[in-house]
Amino acid sequence: MIHLPNYLSGVWQPDSGRSATLLDPVTGQPLATAGGPAAGLDAGFAFARAQGAAGLQALSYGQRASMLGEILKVLQANRDAYYDISLANSGTTKADSAVDIEGASFTLGYYAKTGAALGDARTLLDGAAAILSKDQLFQSQHILTPVRGVALFINAFNFPAWGLWEKAAPALLSGVPVIIKPATVTAWLTHRMVADVIAAGILPEGALSIVCGSSAGLLDALQPFDVLSFTGSADTAALIRSHAAISRHSVRANIEADSLNSSILGVDAAPGTAAFDLYVNELVREMTTKSGQRCTAIRRALVPQQFFDAVAEAVGAKLAQVSVGNPRHAEVRMGSLVGREQFDSVQAGIARLASEATVLYDGSAQALIDVDPAIAACAAPTLLGVRDADRAALVHDHEVFGPVSTLLGYRDTGHALSLAHRGLGSLVASVFSADSAWMAQVGRELAGTHGRVHMVSPDVGKTQTGHGNVMPASIHGGPGRAGGGEELGGLRALGFYHRRAALQGSSVTLQQLTPAATNWNV
Ligand code: NAP
Repeated sequence: MIHLPNYLSGVWQPDSGRSATLLDPVTGQPLATAGGPAAGLDAGFAFARAQGAAGLQALSYGQRASMLGEILKVLQANRDAYYDISLANSGTTKADSAVDIEGASFTLGYYAKTGAALGDARTLLDGAAAILSKDQLFQSQHILTPVRGVALFINAFNFPAWGLWEKAAPALLSGVPVIIKPATVTAWLTHRMVADVIAAGILPEGALSIVCGSSAGLLDALQPFDVLSFTGSADTAALIRSHAAISRHSVRANIEADSLNSSILGVDAAPGTAAFDLYVNELVREMTTKSGQRCTAIRRALVPQQFFDAVAEAVGAKLAQVSVGNPRHAEVRMGSLVGREQFDSVQAGIARLASEATVLYDGSAQALIDVDPAIAACAAPTLLGVRDADRAALVHDHEVFGPVSTLLGYRDTGHALSLAHRGLGSLVASVFSADSAWMAQVGRELAGTHGRVHMVSPDVGKTQTGHGNVMPASIHGGPGRAGGGEELGGLRALGFYHRRAALQGSSVTLQQLTPAATNWNV
């Protein structure tokens, strides 16, 4: 069994005691151990702030972008090992591992390419200079400079690969050193990727560090100019927000938390239409991809009341084709949840929602393939439903992080929108219809409470990127319950890792900036 040591101050640290054992969620077999409270955190953070930042910021944006390209090559060279780790530690099928691993590579590649457009620049200009004096000589130019600190990432268990690189790519491109703390239960994949990149010697010393296992002391090590990006549950997010680093010292924090995402079927999309079929396929894909363990998955499926039975029947028929069990078995389409604790939480969540909803499809009637049901964390898909959506409240409040969704019948467009808004802020909503004018209107209405609105008409049925897939060109995050964060969105992502300041002076002085500056065109 391997141990996952911390990498701080440019050195793999001695074992800090064992705090956790990582398991294979299908067989229950122990795989790796992670450490207890990390030693040397303050020194490790200081090393990153000094050495890591200096090394990165000695380079132009274009040079850092090509470093991302080099990292991508390392990840591609080792991808077979990553699939093996994902299978063993996350219990995912190859297709579900790909969502994480290929998603990470795609995002890195995207920032390598997009960042290259910034070329030799060492300073980012934010818009044109504003004239402040009558003679026009005294002006104000806004610029962006990398934050003078580290970026600490505290990540969730469900994306050990993508979760690291979707944050690290824009941070490193910005010139900001990264310290990653993966969720312990699936930390192995993150750890292996970090180890591979460090061994390849691509990054300056101190640019990338990792703490595995206990999170004790991590927030205490933060200083005012550091930034923190957290992905995980609303409960941990609340703890983090109340820590003095954030509440007193104004450490900039980005929070991605729970989200009760919805998907709306248009009134025009009757059974038999292309939009109806696209909706049914998407709902099934969202319920079963990574066993529903995606923060963006469809939790609330809003359908016109008159189509409620037809949707339930079509979705149930497709879910019945989904074989669940050991992802090593060729017939298995959906693997395991991340662990037994998550399994228990999903079962309790289904029971809670079922107190006010009907079970429309219960996959647990089918036998699991090639697993011991008493050990494996395999959960079958469950479709719940409430025909008159006004009779349900829990579904808008309780996120069941597994292959579970609830069908809700709506009366008219206003009713559908008010139901979507009851999620109190979500990462994504999708809309399926052939009526573009209606869909655009609904999209605009949803934009106030959602980070992303995914609109699918039959003309994009084959090319649309998927309700739950986070594309680096679009922002990821959402207001309210979803945490209020914002990531990705092309070069917009760099904003989090930069400080904006107004430089006021003679236009002659301000022009001294421009040879090594480029405008920040998002
Ligand atoms: P979690 O229990 O909140 O853990 C998230 C991270 O916080 C882990 O790395 C955890 O470390 C760490 N942590 C726990 N207590 C901490 C503390 N007191 N101080 C500092 N760090 C602490 O969440 P999870 O169970 O891993 O993830 C599931 C949740 O994440 C779901 O609710 C899902 O909706 C949400 N999620 C959101 C997004 C998004 O983008 N919005 C994406 C994925 C998941 P340990 O593992 O060592 O405890």
